[in-house]
Amino acid sequence: MNQHVIVIGGGPAGLMASIAAAEHGASVTLLDKGDKLGRKLAISGGGRCNVTNRMDLQDLIAHIPGNGRFMHSPFSVFNNEDIIAFFEGLGIELKEEDRGRMFPVNDKATTVVSTLLNRVRALKVNIRTNTSVQSLEYDAERVCAVKLKNGERIQADAVIVATGGKSVPHTGSTGDAYPWAEKAGHTITELYPTEVPITSNERFIKSKELQGLSLREIHLSVINPKGKVIKTHEGDMIFTHFGISGPAALRCSQYVVKALKKFKTKTIEMHIDLFPTTHQELLFQDLIKRVKEEPKKSLKNLLKGFVPERFLLFMLDQLELDGTQPANTFSHDRIRDVASFCKSFSFQANGTLSIEKAFVTGGGVSVKEVEPKTMQSKKKAGLFFCGEVLDIHGYTGGYNITCAFSTGYTAGKSAGELVSQK
Ligand SMILES: Cc1cc2nc3c(=O)[nH]c(=O)nc-3n(C[C@H](O)[C@H](O)[C@H](O)COP(=O)(O)OP(=O)(O)OC[C@H]3O[C@@H](n4cnc5c(N)ncnc54)[C@H](O)[C@@H]3O)c2cc1C
Repeated sequence: MNQHVIVIGGGPAGLMASIAAAEHGASVTLLDKGDKLGRKLAISGGGRCNVTNRMDLQDLIAHIPGNGRFMHSPFSVFNNEDIIAFFEGLGIELKEEDRGRMFPVNDKATTVVSTLLNRVRALKVNIRTNTSVQSLEYDAERVCAVKLKNGERIQADAVIVATGGKSVPHTGSTGDAYPWAEKAGHTITELYPTEVPITSNERFIKSKELQGLSLREIHLSVINPKGKVIKTHEGDMIFTHFGISGPAALRCSQYVVKALKKFKTKTIEMHIDLFPTTHQELLFQDLIKRVKEEPKKSLKNLLKGFVPERFLLFMLDQLELDGTQPANTFSHDRIRDVASFCKSFSFQANGTLSIEKAFVTGGGVSVKEVEPKTMQSKKKAGLFFCGEVLDIHGYTGGYNITCAFSTGYTAGKSAGELVSQK
């Protein structure tokens, strides 16, 4: 078939690539091995589908720690505002929540997925679900065909690979495309879990005494073996039966993975600052003031509401302070210990959950070998990559989906223009 673009993978990247390729004059076939399209998109953002993020471009890129700078070019073709305009143009109203996160007004991921599918269908894209791709065929210069698991061979003028990463494999992302890219001469940078809960062997984690406790608006830091801060993230976190999770922990996770590898250590230190906007000395002064105001009150009662109750009991236990004693029986140094504990509660992390359990896969097809303005391979003509299969990853908050839509649109547009010129 002439002017034929094959898109492999019907996640946000592949759906948007199919739309853009069809809008730019190509005849498009979309192949997905699952029985449904957009399965991961449908569970993103807690099932509400965090379609994009409304930060300005510089901030957007700053929230894409995995090769964010590469995104300048795809964003010049299709950026977060284009994504918003795209959905609003198709009749989906979006709303902005904290930190610029954009959701459909009805909070239903299914609406986002069905809107994309309706557009794909309206553009007469040939959709083939339950169709697993086995490999790609190349000649010396270009991609020639797609080989399916059932043995079928489909010839193509252009192939867009949008198969996602290796995380949450039941959604279809099982890392199938990495060998296809390698066969074309591409480098696959090391894969690792990102946006993933962090594990710890600390006694207090094993004993589960803090399990389920959430800390709000804290600063969580990853510390190198010399005691220097590698990265700090603000936000909420939660203690779990294996370690910590929640937005701040997810954001720190990749730095834990990388530090463990870089420093070849079994554990890496982390700090929690429960009062990130208050200097330790001021916190200490505040505590002393409380003691002076109610000297006879037990320390435990005096500190009620200062930190969450379970954390308070845990802290008193860790500091070996008898909270039943009157507050004025404690020396200033001991009160200082309380301030210090709250400002930098330290514990050791020993890793993260697996890549399969991660929200996002770090690493992938090296961006050095992909043209950023078109997403075309520098190794084989007619071959394009988009979405999480690439070595690009952002924090949760709509950044990954934004990258998927942006690189997907860019790949689809370029592939469509390429085959239409034939
Ligand atoms: C629970 C969860 C919540 C998330 N929340 C957020 C969030 O809030 N914000 C954010 O930015 N990101 C979030 N993400 C990440 C985001 O969903 C992904 O980055 C995004 O879906 C990647 O899009 P993609 O199109 O590249 O790949 P995917 O969505 O993974 O789609 C890949 C598709 O390719 C198909 N495929 C794979 N191999 C083959 C093959 N051999 N043949 C045919 N088809 C194949 C799969 O079936 C699948 O449909 C979340 C992820 C998870 C798991």
